Amino acid sequence: MNYSKNYEVIIIGGSYAGLSAAMALGRSLRNVLIIDSGLPCNRQTPHAHNFITQDGAKPAEIAAAAKEQVAKYNTVTFLNDLALSGEKSENGFSITTHTGKEFIARKLAFATGIKDIMPNIKGFAECWGISIVHCPYCHGYELRNKRTGIMANGERAFHLASLVNNLTGDITILTSGKADFKPQQIEKLNSHHIKIIETEVAEIEHQNGSIKNVIFRNGNSESFEGIYASLPFTQHSDIPVSLDCELTEHGYIKVDDFQKTTVAGVYACGDNAAMMRSLATAVYTGSLAGAMINSELTGEEF
Ligand SMILES: Cc1cc2nc3c(=O)[nH]c(=O)nc-3n(C[C@H](O)[C@H](O)[C@H](O)COP(=O)(O)OP(=O)(O)OC[C@H]3O[C@@H](n4cnc5c(N)ncnc54)[C@H](O)[C@@H]3O)c2cc1C
Repeated sequence: MNYSKNYEVIIIGGSYAGLSAAMALGRSLRNVLIIDSGLPCNRQTPHAHNFITQDGAKPAEIAAAAKEQVAKYNTVTFLNDLALSGEKSENGFSITTHTGKEFIARKLAFATGIKDIMPNIKGFAECWGISIVHCPYCHGYELRNKRTGIMANGERAFHLASLVNNLTGDITILTSGKADFKPQQIEKLNSHHIKIIETEVAEIEHQNGSIKNVIFRNGNSESFEGIYASLPFTQHSDIPVSLDCELTEHGYIKVDDFQKTTVAGVYACGDNAAMMRSLATAVYTGSLAGAMINSELTGEEF
């Protein structure tokens, strides 16, 4: 395929947020290039939940249907590639890709997501998204009444325990080190019969990603049917920061109520700019970013 060098908008990341932005822009007859490297964060999850009309669907099928619908707008072009660097240019921005292509655009939208940093625990990565999950709203119903672990400590563990307690009466917090709770929090956890194990987790025993046992450093083991884990993350792309987009104290791209970053002409949507990590949020913020970019272009032209 021959690609034009010039676009009105380049969207980096063509998953749920990027495709939603592209739909709003395609429907506004904008010339859009979507560059996507094909690594959405939920790719290992068998079924997505809590996304209305698609509850229980396979993540890849939701994305494929979205892409098919966006592809009908013929001012939108797709490129499977990795955007490597970006620079401000005279009338906008230039983006260079892994395969050596260079494009320019008046506006940029980053829909690049975040990258979870897996702990160095044997078996953990294989279970991620299958039986070790990040969010009770996405997977808690499927884990209801099950023997459940929470791999976290401090405020995060306490908050997760309070949410998960509504779904199951069998919760153990695995702090992998000294538990970091206030006396009132310990009291509350005890009152709900929530156990705490401080011994470091050494391994997750599993079958095709379905957790069986957690093995601790001291050789003990406990069986679980599901675990919630709160993982650290990095931005999937470092281009926004290289363009001077500010990050929040939690590591998200700072955006205003209209998905505008701190750099004029640059927008961000989806997981990279939202603490509420869900398909619905990605689709909403993507759609909003698309509309706001079109509005900005229209304002400049009208
Ligand atoms: C394990 C797991 C399970 C989940 N389950 C659910 C669920 O059941 N229900 C729910 O509502 N939510 C769920 N979520 C959350 C949901 O998957 C995310 O909120 C959603 O995928 C965010 O969409 P996004 O488009 O922002 O980012 P992503 O879907 O992560 O996509 C980002 C895209 O950008 C691309 N990209 C990144 N950098 C570049 C670059 N430099 N150049 C080109 N492309 C780039 C990536 O390859 C990827 O395709 C889950 C998340 C995880 C991690």
